[in-house]
Amino acid sequence: MKQFIEEMEEYAKNKNVPIIEKESITFIMKYIKLNNVKNILEIGSAIGYSAILMASVAEDVKVTTIERDETRYMECLKNVKKCGMDKKITVVYQDALEVNLTDKIEYDLIFIDAAKGQYTKFFEKFKYFLAPGGIIITDNLKFHGYVGSKKKIESKNLEGIVKKIEKYILFLKENEEFETKFYDVGDGLSVSVKKDSR
Ligand code: SAH
Ligand code: MG
Repeated sequence: MKQFIEEMEEYAKNKNVPIIEKESITFIMKYIKLNNVKNILEIGSAIGYSAILMASVAEDVKVTTIERDETRYMECLKNVKKCGMDKKITVVYQDALEVNLTDKIEYDLIFIDAAKGQYTKFFEKFKYFLAPGGIIITDNLKFHGYVGSKKKIESKNLEGIVKKIEKYILFLKENEEFETKFYDVGDGLSVSVKKDSR
């Protein structure tokens, strides 16, 4: 398993796949363990790195993960099979904003880690699939150090993404339904809990 994880890290590095930082996945895995999380929904599988690590925390953890890029989806499927997790991890090949979640599962943890400009949309769409007491974790709120810093922004495209993440952060801070804590872990994480279900 350890070697397999390292192979995925190597692949991600070579192919420029933005997998989660070590520190952040460690944080999430601890949360899963401490809170007995069973059902996880992930938006943005890439090659399955974070899905596989989350699913590896305990025997009864199940992950549904959504990916819209065909090459990454195929690579993710391959990796899930390779580590024998095809019973625990369901990979959905679709744009998350178009997905129709038909199963009646409620998720203890929803992990948002897809297109950074659409975070608010993901949050608004998937919050209805949270189990009581469930949480939404979002990755990359610092966006490689660009958000909330004076680091020089080189392109309009990048500027647009940074602005959208800033807007998302504000959306979380002002949200009356959810209480959000921000963590300076890895590339910046948030943990949002529904207020009435604590
Ligand atoms: N969670 C992964 C990394 C995901 S990278 C890990 O840490 O290992 C973000 C992924 O989200 C990319 O592969 C991208 O193709 C996918 N993505 C972006 N927008 C999406 C959308 N709207 N629906 C589904 N997947 C999306
Ligand atoms: Mg990420």
